[in-house]
Amino acid sequence: MRVHVLGGGVVGLACADELLARGHDVVVVDPAVGSGASAVAAGMLSPAAEAWHGEQDVHRLGVESARLWPTYAARLDVPLHDHGTLLVGHDADDRHDVRRQVALLAGLGVVTDLLSPAQVRRLEPGLGRVSGGARVDDRSVDPRAVVAALLRRLAGRVHAREPRPVADAVVLATGARLPEPWTHLLRGVRGEVVRLHTSDPPRHVVRGWVAGEHVYVVPREGGEVVVGATVEEHDEPPVPTAGGVLRLLRAARVLLPALDRAEVLACAARDRPATRDHLPLVGPTHDPRTWLAAGHFRHGVLLAPLTARLLADALEGAAPDPAVDPRRLLATPTAPGGPPCT
Ligand SMILES: Cc1cc2nc3c(=O)[nH]c(=O)nc-3n(C[C@H](O)[C@H](O)[C@H](O)COP(=O)(O)OP(=O)(O)OC[C@H]3O[C@@H](n4cnc5c(N)ncnc54)[C@H](O)[C@@H]3O)c2cc1C
Repeated sequence: MRVHVLGGGVVGLACADELLARGHDVVVVDPAVGSGASAVAAGMLSPAAEAWHGEQDVHRLGVESARLWPTYAARLDVPLHDHGTLLVGHDADDRHDVRRQVALLAGLGVVTDLLSPAQVRRLEPGLGRVSGGARVDDRSVDPRAVVAALLRRLAGRVHAREPRPVADAVVLATGARLPEPWTHLLRGVRGEVVRLHTSDPPRHVVRGWVAGEHVYVVPREGGEVVVGATVEEHDEPPVPTAGGVLRLLRAARVLLPALDRAEVLACAARDRPATRDHLPLVGPTHDPRTWLAAGHFRHGVLLAPLTARLLADALEGAAPDPAVDPRRLLATPTAPGGPPCT
């Protein structure tokens, strides 16, 4: 098939790469490749640490995609950070947040023990005062390295404008803003991050609660760490704000006091592409030429390899996974505005 993929973020590029590997004739169209949410994402591959109430399907898909990541990273030749994630609480109330996450995980079949402050600090000696914690096996990856690796594999197939007028299928992977008539399916949820360089990075990904403020610190190669992320529903352009950056740095410095001396490399913000049920849109629409690969909200990096596989399977005729089938959120063409299709 001749396939146009609109959008060169981690999701669109992963889909294009998979379709190419299956022998399809693919081009990616994006006037600003890699400039969306994929450029600032922390890159946590975190079905466990990011698990949330009522999101069993998100968790299921995340676990499935996390299993693909070791092979996927090897295929792209990008390093995986494999030292696990520490969930930590600063004060006694914050310890309740850790306890609640551990209980939530137990309900999803992920067993992890609550650790004492001494046990947590033995695992991560650079931590400041902690009231308790837990360790989970989640991994992380640098999304910008993933985008760069995918672009190398797709060399010559990525264009700023559509290079040919017709395609058998068009895959919309344009991040937080889909073109009409699909625009209403997504809303942008702003996330701000700060990138730092430190001579004393943590060994684990550290996700903490500090006086009720949630923050994470994700170590990368060469002393870089990503501190994130704010979560805000808004209608403005996604820019980093003084208040957001201040809250992130204040909480991160309490968790890891050595960050006080870290160099600030960049502050950035982007919109996470959120659907109303927080599950992505991967598969067909009611227009036989238009396919969606969008709406990955907090998990686009984690879900990229699975999305690529599901999208390619669906394009080749497989029945889409109902949890991600875009038609669940679309009115039927004969009954616009009516109840969603099943
Ligand atoms: C602060 C923050 C932290 C995050 N941390 C994580 C994390 O740790 N782990 C995780 O898994 N996920 C994380 N996410 C979520 C993740 O970043 C997104 O789910 C993912 O990047 C979405 O990828 P995408 O390719 O769909 O969109 P994007 O990366 O936004 O790419 C969309 C692309 O489409 C292009 N485009 C837009 N309109 C058009 C058009 N009309 N025609 C052609 N091209 C167009 C844009 O130029 C852009 O390049 C985070 C997000 C944020 C904001």
